Amino acid sequence: MDYISTRGSAPALDFEGATLAGLASDGGLYVPREWPRFSKDEIAAMAGLPYAELAAKIMFPFVEGSLTHERLLELTTEAYGRFAHKAVTPLKQFDEQQWLLELFHGPTLAFKDVALQLLGLLFEEFLSRSERNLTIVGATSGDTGSAAIDAVAGRAKVDIFMLHPKGRVSDVQRRQMTTVLAPNVHNLALEDASFDDAQAIVKRMFNDRGMTDRFAIGAVNSINWARLMAQVVYYFAAGLQLGAPHRKVAFSVPTGNFGDVFAGYVAAQMGLPVEKLIVATNVNDILHRALANGDYSQGTVTPTAAPSMDIQVSSNFERLLFDLGGRDGKALAEQMAGFEATKAMQLTNAQREGASALFQSARADADEMASTIRWAWENCGELIDPHTACGLFAARSAGIDASIPVVTLATAHPAKFPEAVERATGHRPGLPERVGDLFEREERFTSLTGSFEAVAEFVAQHAAPKV
Ligand SMILES: *Cc1c(COP(=O)(O)O)cnc(C)c1O
Repeated sequence: MDYISTRGSAPALDFEGATLAGLASDGGLYVPREWPRFSKDEIAAMAGLPYAELAAKIMFPFVEGSLTHERLLELTTEAYGRFAHKAVTPLKQFDEQQWLLELFHGPTLAFKDVALQLLGLLFEEFLSRSERNLTIVGATSGDTGSAAIDAVAGRAKVDIFMLHPKGRVSDVQRRQMTTVLAPNVHNLALEDASFDDAQAIVKRMFNDRGMTDRFAIGAVNSINWARLMAQVVYYFAAGLQLGAPHRKVAFSVPTGNFGDVFAGYVAAQMGLPVEKLIVATNVNDILHRALANGDYSQGTVTPTAAPSMDIQVSSNFERLLFDLGGRDGKALAEQMAGFEATKAMQLTNAQREGASALFQSARADADEMASTIRWAWENCGELIDPHTACGLFAARSAGIDASIPVVTLATAHPAKFPEAVERATGHRPGLPERVGDLFEREERFTSLTGSFEAVAEFVAQHAAPKV
């Protein structure tokens, strides 16, 4: 499989190249040249496979040429062996129609682990093949940072610089990053910055020749294709359990950067019968506005109880627009340049119509999140986190035909956001044993002003040159 840029002018790369590159050199995102497709019989034959085996089957067409099936299976077995639940992503039933897909059984309690545990191993695998060092620069609204740091801490030939908006991530999220003291881990807390500001600095670094000439800058954000690829697997896992390929399934996905839900779109392109993908946002609703009336315009970020969705620029939406616009990289490059200049754009008719065939959207405000957390607790005895609550709110109000199961992706463990859960239910979720002493551990981070220059200078002083 080779990978092309959504903006049409960067060179095509193989899977190894796309994994190490992150953002394409023309500012676009890498996507596979075509979607592999499984037949109905092939999907039916996947039912009942252990997760690591299913993962290797689903992902192999994307990595072919860079990894053998055998090696891929070794890597998925190692990555998913670190999860605290044998099923890796277990499914729970709420009522006749509503289901919950628990994606938070990895080491840092959010769904990001599913992709990043594998990505850490892929980096190690590919870097071991030559004399190269990788400098990972990432921005986090909370969960990517801890999951990425866990995945690469202490690994040879990788330095990680993780930017977070100071004071805007939860205590658990911050401590999961700042208590990792491995020398290749650098936490940067940006003063007076939002997640979008941090993400803009990272994007600029990928395009800054002064930096890219000296350092091989890699991505752990969902602009990295390998992350989305790993997330496709659990859509199949859930679908198979609920009767696919003989029955359709709908998914409701708490969304920020449009990565997780784009993986659902990929699953549908690969043959999984998906009725609808419900894009759930909080009040930072750029995606809801884009899908409901074609208006993709950046608002200001409002902090909410679901901080990992406090985003007003959704990087991966570009991948969908590319696919829906006939994969015309030139046209998309112009559309995105317009957005970058004016912070607003209208979707084309083709993009709107294509999106409405598979996607619908909803937005949950603070009261709707809280009442949904309460509903799950009072009716089903489940504590859910505020991000998951946005998804469940959207799932329950989506009007999906009663014969079709609706799966809400539970993106974080409730103990990651204990205050919001306790406010809504009167119950404080406890941290699972595996992260028990988090609040006793020493923290280490560096505060910087939220400017590109400050971050670039810090990275240049601490990173290893590319060769
Ligand atoms: C990252 C994150 C999201 C948003 O996922 P995207 O792939 O950015 O859309 C939702 N919930 C939680 C808990 C997250 O960590």
